[in-house]
Parts: sequence; C-alpha cells; structure tokens
Amino acid sequence: MSLKTMLDGKLLPRMYEALSKVDFESRKFSNDIESAKRDILNDLAKRKSNRPLRIVGPSSIGGCLRKLFLARISARPSPKYIPIHKRFKSICIMETGTSMHLRWQAMLHVLGLLKDLSDIEVETNVKDTDLWGTADGRLTIGDEQYLLEAKSMASYLHRKEKNAGEARAGYREQYQIYCAGLNLVGTCYLFENKDNSEIQEFVDPLDLSFMEEAVARTIMLNEQEYAFWLDGSKHCPDKEGMDMSSYVCSGCDWAVDCFKGDTTAIEEARHGIPPAYITHEERERFRERENLRRRSGACASGARFKLDSKVASRLVRGRGKSSSARIRSNSSSG
Ligand code: SF4
Repeated sequence: MSLKTMLDGKLLPRMYEALSKVDFESRKFSNDIESAKRDILNDLAKRKSNRPLRIVGPSSIGGCLRKLFLARISARPSPKYIPIHKRFKSICIMETGTSMHLRWQAMLHVLGLLKDLSDIEVETNVKDTDLWGTADGRLTIGDEQYLLEAKSMASYLHRKEKNAGEARAGYREQYQIYCAGLNLVGTCYLFENKDNSEIQEFVDPLDLSFMEEAVARTIMLNEQEYAFWLDGSKHCPDKEGMDMSSYVCSGCDWAVDCFKGDTTAIEEARHGIPPAYITHEERERFRERENLRRRSGACASGARFKLDSKVASRLVRGRGKSSSARIRSNSSSG
C-alpha cells in the first residue's frame, strides 16, 4: 500500500489510525472480530426485509437484458451447458466473497468505522423504480455518508484496477444506483488482493449519469415480461453478449439455446404461472400502456417493438418529461 493511496482514501487513513491503537500482541482484536461476525449474523437473521416482489438488481441491470428476461419468466436453463465442477467452482467463489465481506464488515465495526449494525448490509431501493439491492455498508465519514463496497480479486485484476487508478466502469455504474437509493455522497471501494491481502481504496463521488439508462432498461424489461405473460408476445430482448465465451455470457444458464436461436424454453415457460406481482392492477396498467403505444404507433402488440424514449420518460413516475437516456433497441433477434 503506497502512502499516496492511503492518504488519498476516505476510509483507509481512518482505518489505519484506528488500527494503530490496537494491541496486536493480544488475542483481543481477533476475538472481537469473531464476536462481531456473530453479532452481524444474528442481527441479519432478526431483520425483516422490505424487498419488493418485483426487483432488478443494480448489479445485473448493466448486464444482458435477455438473460434477466429469461430468469423472470423462469425459462429452463440450456441442458448440460455448465458442467457440475464449474457450478461448484461458482459456489466456492461466491462463498469466498461472502466470508470476505463479513470479515471486512466485522473489522470495520470493531474499529468503530461501521458503528451501527444497521449500517451493515443496507437495503436500498431507488424511489419509484424496481432497482433494489443490498449494499455492503453505509459509512459515516465526518459529516458525509458513503457507500462501502468491498471486493476481493485476483492479483492481475487488482493490478489492473491499480494501474487504471479508479474502479472499473461496470462497478461504478452499479454503485451509483446504490448511492442514489441511499442518498449517499459517493462510494468507498476497498479492493483486496486475494493472493496477499494487499488493499487499495478508490473513492467515487455520486454521479447519476447511468441512472436514466438503468431506469429505462428496467422499464423495458418489465414491458417485455408483461407482453410475454399478458399479450402472448413472442419477443424477448436482444442478445447483449457477443459469444458464449464473452464476459457477459460466461455462466449464463441459457447460453446454448440463446446462441442456437432455440426458443423452446421460452415457449415452455409460457405454460408456467405468472409471478405474483402481475396483479389485476398491473394487468390494467399494462393494457393502458399498450393502448398508449398503439395510439402513438410505436408498435403493434405482438410485433417487434422498440421502447420509445418519450414513452419511457412518461412511464418513469416522478421523473422529468424529457429523457436523454440511451435507450437500447429491444427489437427481437434470434
Ligand atoms: S447467452 Fe449471453 S446474450 Fe444470451 S441470454 Fe445469456 S448473457 Fe444474454
């Protein structure tokens, strides 16, 4: 850790200052961390979640909309695409990440930097949207509040972030959404090198430039899903990955069928039960929107359609009339 990075950060300088008062010769610090982990887990077990029925995770909205759509309609995964050892590997990676998060949260709690247990695993929902997720933590630094985002990564990725001097765009888009939902001024990223536990911090101020696109994509996903369930639409969002080995598609359960253009799983899903959030009111709202679209000539139901940016901005409750969001075409492709 270079002195410059330490001094530049918001969290690390405070963490090192708190650590300078710790007696590393005794077992107390380690014992306190273990006890904090138990407190956090107990607190989480007691909490009541406010998770809405229909959500879009900030981490997935920048990914492939078709994949989100297939998950929404519970399409069966492409057969035997992911071998069992790869599935197990994914579980191990996730478990490692979960325990790393708990360790960081417990350490920062013991050091007084995540004072309150309610500042750990904080639910966030951007008002009037389906964007919902759980943030690692909410830090109070001086009179400002920041999002805590801890990540462990392989050496080469850690080096890449360090050389870039900032967190990668994909992370930043995702965490802007969390910050907006929680009214925070920015994000403190703690990146830990999995090989040697070297840590680096990046501080990213709140920037809402991706928000409009995220909201528009969420609406587009809902529209496609509702058209599927309520209007028998045969269309699904475009592929957003280049090929099966691309970053976007790696680990996608539907990759084989998607790249073969096989829509059997989608047709089978049609016989399933629509999710509970498609209530009578939602059906009515869908019909109103379809009528609006038909009148505006933006699409004929069941035909290929592209969400009009004017329609999108009108559908975003509580937002301005104009939208400069980059709306991606969702006209169907095989
Ligand atoms: S294979 Fe790639 S393009 Fe197809 S649905 Fe999955 S993520 Fe999207």
